[in-house]
Amino acid sequence: MDRAEYRRQLKLDEKSIAKGIDSSKLDADQIVSLMRVIRDKLRGCLSRSSVTSLMYYLYQNVNLGAKHIADAPISCTKGCSHCCNIWVDATPPEVFYTASAIRSQKRQVNALTSVEVAIATTGGLSFDGRGDVVTPCPLLDNNLCSVYDARPINCRTAVSADAGVCERSYLHISGEDIPTPVVWMALRQGYGFALEGALHHAGLVPHAVEWNEALRIALTAPDTEARWLAGEDVFAGVARATDEPLVQNPQLRELYREAFGVAP
Ligand code: SF4
Repeated sequence: MDRAEYRRQLKLDEKSIAKGIDSSKLDADQIVSLMRVIRDKLRGCLSRSSVTSLMYYLYQNVNLGAKHIADAPISCTKGCSHCCNIWVDATPPEVFYTASAIRSQKRQVNALTSVEVAIATTGGLSFDGRGDVVTPCPLLDNNLCSVYDARPINCRTAVSADAGVCERSYLHISGEDIPTPVVWMALRQGYGFALEGALHHAGLVPHAVEWNEALRIALTAPDTEARWLAGEDVFAGVARATDEPLVQNPQLRELYREAFGVAP
């Protein structure tokens, strides 16, 4: 594809997702478009050694996507934070964006202290092991997310149709499934696929990693973001929910092939 074709395709892609992914339509073309747009924005991130502009764009787009499904019945309200007491993971650019937000609020010392306190409980736990440990996210403040605009996709899409089930399942480990509307799960998957596919294509380490440990690393060493953008696996050794990279997912592989014309 020559430069003119590339620009033409990108314009079409940007138009297709200008109002966010509509997960109620399960439109694979939109995810493919978003994957290519993210990939394009990563070029700017590489030259600036910062993911800030990409993640700002992406989260605005997630917010737009959420508007398409605003009529799905959910019981989440401000101050309800049951889901902030369990395992959280996020991809590297999501971790860096949150760390940047904390730094720009000049809260890194307090935040790092809270993260260290949380790690005293969660440090070294696997995904399964964390399932038995109920303890709040270090960024939860009076039942409100202190990084609300910079919270990762998994938090943005952790919604439920029944807060009572969340309380029993998250706080009392009842084992009940959280009744998340299908359109919200599709929203999470669509944005997750697009982001991880684009990161993989850019040669970056895309895996989602455990939140507390990753935050500690990102807040302690400010050059982590630049090193990751240079291709380093800066979160090697941090726990993951699964060892199998998301890019092995057959659906994601198909979308990736459609987006870039090659297998991941
Ligand atoms: S980042 Fe915010 S929304 Fe996510 S678990 Fe922590 S406090 Fe909750």
